[in-house]
Amino acid sequence: LPRPKPSYEDFKSQKPQNTGVNSTERVNATFVTLARNSDIWEIAKSIRTVEDRFNRNFNYDWVFLNDQEFDEDFKKLTTSLASGTTHYGKIPTEHWSYPSWIDQNKAREVREDMGRRKIIYGDSESYRHMCRYESGFFFRHPLMMNYEYYWRVEPSVELFCDVPTDPFLFMKQNNKKYSFVISLYEYIDTIPTLWDSTKKFLQAHPEHIADNNAVDFVSDDGGETYNKCHFWSNFEIGSLEWLRSPAYIDYFSSLDQDGGFFYERWGDAPVHSIAAATMLKRDEIHFFNEIAYYHVPFTHCPSSEQTRLDLRCHCKPQENFDWKDYSCTSRWFSVNNLQKPDGWDKKD
Ligand code: GDP
Ligand code: MN
Repeated sequence: LPRPKPSYEDFKSQKPQNTGVNSTERVNATFVTLARNSDIWEIAKSIRTVEDRFNRNFNYDWVFLNDQEFDEDFKKLTTSLASGTTHYGKIPTEHWSYPSWIDQNKAREVREDMGRRKIIYGDSESYRHMCRYESGFFFRHPLMMNYEYYWRVEPSVELFCDVPTDPFLFMKQNNKKYSFVISLYEYIDTIPTLWDSTKKFLQAHPEHIADNNAVDFVSDDGGETYNKCHFWSNFEIGSLEWLRSPAYIDYFSSLDQDGGFFYERWGDAPVHSIAAATMLKRDEIHFFNEIAYYHVPFTHCPSSEQTRLDLRCHCKPQENFDWKDYSCTSRWFSVNNLQKPDGWDKKD
């Protein structure tokens, strides 16, 4: 049926209507974006893609967090693009600075050394604060405290398929706590002692180790060594209540004490991933095959042609990263005895 065209006046005065098929049941959830004012045009693209493919029908809120005040241009544009209510928060200084026990001279020497060794973001101080914040603090920002689930969105990402049903509702109804679309190997030079710190923590806190966990995703030898597999955390849909649980908070605090966010360059992706793989049950972690996604330089595009047609996808299947050598997603399927989707072995 042709839809009536709204008049320009109607159009200006209204946010998109909530037409989601399953939208009668809503989840207490929000998008969350950490960004600088200078990220405005890159985050605009991301909001547009998320709204067009999903949120225009669901109108979930959007929380923006920044270590500085957001300026008016940023707030105006992002509020105009988002269909739900937008909130803007400044990060408290204690969450974006050095803890008292960190030797800042040592931290600076590490940055200089890692810069000389050309380790990605190795010379960056702000990147380290960012990784520590995403590891340990975003979920307890005052603006996040009223929500149960989050969907993390970074600048310049793309969604390639319609998301016709509500992933938050899926998470809640199926008791999922963490989800991913892309997984890969971490650069070992950024995390040389992360696994040692993790083992020390888990030995001191065996009560936090989950039964039937997915440690076989991150370790090939029963937990002795880390195989460097991690879920790529620039996309995440997850449970805030899990991140706020004693298990997760204890883990983060222990890592933070060990100092590797500053003395190495621990990323939030391996931190979240190792926490999920050891402290969640394996079936509390979900691979969202239907959410097709790009963040430079990797794409997740559903392998099955039928899925792509049903969801009106516009990604190139040849660009799908899932089954390539540097991806850990094959491992995720094998350790969980999951059947790979149709078309996974199709050659270009
Ligand atoms: P990459 O994806 O690992 O290359 O890192 P990004 O540059 O995309 O940064 C990850 C996220 O943190 C993005 O959402 C950025 O907008 C955000 N971010 C990075 N550095 C800073 C910073 O210094 N301040 C703020 N407010 N956000 C930052
Ligand atoms: Mn990014």
